[in-house]
Amino acid sequence: MRVAVALVLCMLLGALPPAMAQHAELTDEEWPGEPIDNHIHLTWATLTLEVNEWVDDHPDIVDLTSAGTSELGKSLWVVRLSDWSMETKPNGSAKEIVYIDGGHHGNEYLGTALAWLTAKWYINGWAEGNEEAVNVLQNTELHILIMLNPDGNDIDTRWNINQVDLNRNYDHYWNTCPTTQPGSSAFSESETASNSEYMNAFVTDADLYVTMHTGVWIMLYPWGKWPEQPPDWELFHFIRDDVHDTVSDIPIQNANQGLYPNCGTSRDYGYGVMGFPTFTFETDDEQFVPGTFESLNERLGEEMDVMRYLINDVWYWRARLDVQSLTVEDDRVELDVINNGQASTANATLQFVDGAGTVLWNSTLFGVNASNTTVVEFDMGNINTNDGTWQLMYQKRVINASTWVTEPVNSSVVVVIPEDENQFLFGYGLFHPVSTLLGLIGVAAWRRPDEESGQ
Ligand SMILES: [Zn+2]
Repeated sequence: MRVAVALVLCMLLGALPPAMAQHAELTDEEWPGEPIDNHIHLTWATLTLEVNEWVDDHPDIVDLTSAGTSELGKSLWVVRLSDWSMETKPNGSAKEIVYIDGGHHGNEYLGTALAWLTAKWYINGWAEGNEEAVNVLQNTELHILIMLNPDGNDIDTRWNINQVDLNRNYDHYWNTCPTTQPGSSAFSESETASNSEYMNAFVTDADLYVTMHTGVWIMLYPWGKWPEQPPDWELFHFIRDDVHDTVSDIPIQNANQGLYPNCGTSRDYGYGVMGFPTFTFETDDEQFVPGTFESLNERLGEEMDVMRYLINDVWYWRARLDVQSLTVEDDRVELDVINNGQASTANATLQFVDGAGTVLWNSTLFGVNASNTTVVEFDMGNINTNDGTWQLMYQKRVINASTWVTEPVNSSVVVVIPEDENQFLFGYGLFHPVSTLLGLIGVAAWRRPDEESGQ
C-alpha cells in the first residue's frame, strides 16, 4: 500500500512541477499534508510530528494529550490550548471550555483540516500577539481532537478499520434509524469509546462542541434522530440568525431536516447525553481542486470566521442568571432576575443556605427565558432569613443533560424589610387612601414583567 501511495505521489509531483515548487514554500498557514489522488492528505504520522512540534514551540499555551487509541493503536491526539500560566480567567472566574473534533470519516479531509486550522489559528495568533487570540486563550480552554479516525484516514476511507461508520456508533438512540454499518453495539469501537470517555472526563462543562466533517456546506444542530426542534431551539436559532447577520450565509439547520434522519451521531450524543450546544460543521461540498495546493486560510477562511465567532461568544451559549434584586418581606420573597445568556433555563430554584452551606429553604421551580427578565414571588414560610445567604441553582440549558450550576446571589442586591415596618404598614397604612393607591400601582408594575416574559 505504501509503495502504491508513494508511486501515486511521485506521479502527481512529476506531472505538476509548479505544485512542487509551491510545496517547498509551504508555510504554517497551509495544509502540512501531501497530495494523494485528488486530495491533500494529512497522515496521522505527519500530524503526530506536528502536534509535538506545537508543544515544543509553545509550551505556554499548548498541552498535548491522547484521548485513547484507534483500533490499530494510533494515539488520538487532543491539543489543549489556553494560557496555562493562569488557572482561571484574569477576573478570577472559571474559563469557558470548547470541545472540537475532526476526522470521524477518514476521507473527509476538509473537516479534519478545519479542526487543524482552528488550533493553528490560535497558536499563530498567540505567537503574533493577536488581540483576539490572546483574549480567547486567556479566557477559554480549547480542546481539539484533530483526527478521530486515523486508521480510516490512512487508507482514505469513510469507515474505521472494522468497516464501522464511527458517526453512527455513539450511545444515543444507537441503530434506531435506517443506517449502514453502525457497529455491533454503541461504542463498540475504540475511537468513539475514547471520544466519549474524554468528553465525560475533561470537558463536561463545555459550552460548545463542534464536530467537523465535509460533504455539503452546512451546519447541523440537533436532532438527527427527530425532525422536531431541540429543547434549546432558542439558542440554536439565535446563533443561526446572528451568524447570518454578521458572519456567513452558511445554511444552519436541524440535522434531521437539513440532511436526513441519522442516529447514534456524536452530535446527538454531545447534546442529548452531555448537554453541550453542538454543531456538525460540514465544511464544503467539494474537495480540493485536483493536484493543487491551496492556503487553508483562504480555502476555509469563511468557515474559520464562523468558528471564531462561536468561540469568541462562547460565554453566551448558556443561561447566565444575574439577580437584579431580592426582597424579603414578611414570609414572602420577591426575585427579579435577568438572563444574560442566549439559552433559556427551565428548572431553577432560589435557595437560602446557612453558614455551613446547608440548604434551609428551596423555592418552587421557575424558568427564565434567554436574554429576558423575570420577576417571581415565593412563600417562604417561617424561615429566619437573618443568618445565611442566598443562591441560585439552575441548569445551563433546557436539555435535561445540561450541567447544573450553583451561584451565590450578591448580598448587595438583597433587601430585607423588617417585620416591625410591615406591621406598621399593615396596622396603620393599609386602608389609608394614599397607601391603597400606591399599593395598586405597585401591583400593576410588578405584574407587567411577568406578563412580558410569558410571550
Ligand atoms: Zn462525515
